[in-house]
Amino acid sequence: MTDKIPTQDITPVDAGKKRKSPTMNAEQGELYARRKNIYVKRVQGLFQKLRAAASWVLLTGFFLASLITYEGRQALLFDLPNRQFHFFGTTIFPHDFMLLAWLLIILAFILFFVTNFAGRVWCGYSCPQFVWTWIFIFVEEKTEGSPNQRKKLDKAPWSANKLLRKGSKHLIWLLIAVATGVAFLGYFSPIRELLPRVFTLDLGPWEGFWLGFFIFFTYLFAGWLREQVCIYMCPYARFQAVMFDKDTLIVSYDTARGEPRGSRKKSADPKELNLGACIDCDLCVQVCPVGIDIRNGLQYECITCAACIDACDQVMDKMDYPRGLIRYTTEEELAGRTTKFLRPRLIGYFIVLVAMAIAFVIAVSSRVPLELEVLRDRNQLFRMTNTGQVENSYLIRIANMDQKPHTYELSLRKAEGIKLDAVPVFSLAGGEVRQFPIQLLGNLEQLPQLPAVDIEVHLVSKDDPSIQRTRDSRFIIRQAR
Ligand code: SF4
Ligand code: SF4
Repeated sequence: MTDKIPTQDITPVDAGKKRKSPTMNAEQGELYARRKNIYVKRVQGLFQKLRAAASWVLLTGFFLASLITYEGRQALLFDLPNRQFHFFGTTIFPHDFMLLAWLLIILAFILFFVTNFAGRVWCGYSCPQFVWTWIFIFVEEKTEGSPNQRKKLDKAPWSANKLLRKGSKHLIWLLIAVATGVAFLGYFSPIRELLPRVFTLDLGPWEGFWLGFFIFFTYLFAGWLREQVCIYMCPYARFQAVMFDKDTLIVSYDTARGEPRGSRKKSADPKELNLGACIDCDLCVQVCPVGIDIRNGLQYECITCAACIDACDQVMDKMDYPRGLIRYTTEEELAGRTTKFLRPRLIGYFIVLVAMAIAFVIAVSSRVPLELEVLRDRNQLFRMTNTGQVENSYLIRIANMDQKPHTYELSLRKAEGIKLDAVPVFSLAGGEVRQFPIQLLGNLEQLPQLPAVDIEVHLVSKDDPSIQRTRDSRFIIRQAR
């Protein structure tokens, strides 16, 4: 993706007033652009309400989902030491890697589909980086005041007032970062046991490391780096342009309607002053969390948060001009053509998405929560017992991938003349993995005159016969000539 997407020409009026975007230093040959503080002004409006609603859903889900209990166990838990993921009564094992891979591919296609249709809505409305950044900006505003007050405070010499304001801001930031770290860790270490241990600082080394890691990076990313993460660190921001086309929704300034820009009285007729609709109030720039001026054309820093739309609509209302000088639009619409919402690429993404979702649902619904591995003893092909029987040894590995305990019965199939040398019934707790050796015995007279025969090892749950697995193996009878 190029750094600028030239969707609109910048008029000569723009040229003189073009603001520095955060990446301009790099374009001008400077290797490192010094970060300039962006004093974001918060704005109200339809899109900001939508963004806030999406943020609340995400935050509520993130902070509370780990507290949900299902069938006596934490509903969502990545149990890394036991290599299990518990999801509402289903235990996902490494054997289920394909299911997880499917799920990730489906999520990727949802992202492709949404991005092709509506641009960077993920970035603007639900990306955790900006959900947390907006919370940190809110705290900043409550502790240090409006953007102008914050600017003055930054320039002012240190005083008790500055210390109090800055100190309380950083303290609240840190508390949010700690809450975030604990909530995140709660998906990997049972949260109800973790919470009291956090307060008594009774954490294991890995828990302590990851808690510190998430506290530090939440504080750094949302408090200090903010838009720098999107501009310089996020790979999605770089490759998303390949998913865009001319019918993708973008936030754009209507140059034809807005230019030439200029201030005027509300009562003045812009036509008489030879002015467009933009009153050059700069509000769209002041509310932009990435510090760009959307009037310079679509820039890749834009996260499509629509704060500039809400700000400009307020200005248009005050001036009694029609809304939508900055709006969600498409390149086609800006060029005077009709936007095609149904287009081959979008339909293609949708078809693939639906097909994969169906395949995923079939795979999940036909999943058997039992894994069976039968490994032959590699040290000894076979052994003759004192009673003249042929003995083969195997290692059996069983994983009960259900949350409930089950009693299983092991048996042999297609194994005439061969029997198990033990009572083959045993119980496994939910999520338990067990491995043990077994011996199979065969009477030489009843076995075929072959070096080896194929057998099937069968395992079935006695309490739920739909849970069963069969594995192929070999029974070695004699040395091959
Ligand atoms: S908010 Fe609207 S009117 Fe004000 S400068 Fe931006 S585009 Fe122009
Ligand atoms: S230009 Fe507008 S939509 Fe883009 S990031 Fe800035 S405020 Fe948000």
